Amino acid sequence: MILPKSSRLTPEQLSEVTGIVTEFGCGIQPIVGAVRTIYAIVGDERDELMINRLEGLKYVERIDRIQSPFKLMDRRSDLASHRITVGGVTLGEGLFVIAGQCTIDPKNPGYFHETAAAVKESGAHALRGGVWKPRTNPYSFQGDSRSLDILMEASRQTGLPVVTEVMDEGQVRLAIDAGVHILQVGARNALNYSLLRSIGAAVAERDRVVLLKRSLHMGPLNEFISAAEYIASFGNPNILLCPRGTAPGVDGYRNHPDESITPLLKERTWAPVVVDPSHSVGRAAYVPACALAAIAYGADGLCIEAHVSPSHGIGDDPKQALTPDVLAATIAQARAVWKIVRE
Ligand code: PEP
Ligand code: MN
Repeated sequence: MILPKSSRLTPEQLSEVTGIVTEFGCGIQPIVGAVRTIYAIVGDERDELMINRLEGLKYVERIDRIQSPFKLMDRRSDLASHRITVGGVTLGEGLFVIAGQCTIDPKNPGYFHETAAAVKESGAHALRGGVWKPRTNPYSFQGDSRSLDILMEASRQTGLPVVTEVMDEGQVRLAIDAGVHILQVGARNALNYSLLRSIGAAVAERDRVVLLKRSLHMGPLNEFISAAEYIASFGNPNILLCPRGTAPGVDGYRNHPDESITPLLKERTWAPVVVDPSHSVGRAAYVPACALAAIAYGADGLCIEAHVSPSHGIGDDPKQALTPDVLAATIAQARAVWKIVRE
């Protein structure tokens, strides 16, 4: 829909916009109002170049898109009835919880195995463990490929599917070949389209799930859903959207908690929402409340950092990991909130 700056386009302007949309296989239908005429674009209005050219015309105030920019992830698409099942839970039908250490310490695998057993005991459905780590400081520990064996061993011992973050094509291959069930795209890489392409192609080839975090640099929610759409365009729509806090806004929280975007996401996309309260608030003491709020807002699941002995952890664990007792209590409370919300 084209909204001109003046009450209507001049014949020359109308001819110019008609010329542009015709190049993209569309037409123009004026809608004449009492004080203003607006111009519907008839046809597929999703071509970015067409929209950019129209938005660049100095007599155009703005373009309002009526069609969703997503073909696959849209709530009204044919895929809306698609269901993702992982760890024995069909997302949307029961609370889904991922829990585990931020980072696996390859020098102390015992902690990860103990954490994995505690995560299973707590009632979580999937185990997280960071093998490769994006860091704020490049000289901090960046992970170790040997941790992949520790992760997969814990998966075998507990029977839980595992999640780890991948940051380049080599890691995508290693993780897929090792049997990692859920590939995490971290907040720092959610706009890295070449990585999304590698992941999209890899998960389409082997049936896996992607946990897509929301980038700190994402503005409108459509950017988040578009990243999921891009991964899905390679053939596998098993994508979980993961709000994890956006740029810090409140002194005291690591990031600005953004679990409240869940209902807005759900108005646009069928993709399940799995909130990460740990990176949102960044301190173990605040994580349970954030987790419960996320479920109250309608999230389908949670991704929580947990460690049997947080003070012995590396990465984020000393600050934000829940101990097993708190994790178990949080999951039990989240189930109760889930029931209230869904029933
Ligand atoms: C993580 O999951 O440990 C992590 C680094 O996440 P994020 O990309 O959300 O910061
Ligand atoms: Mn972390």
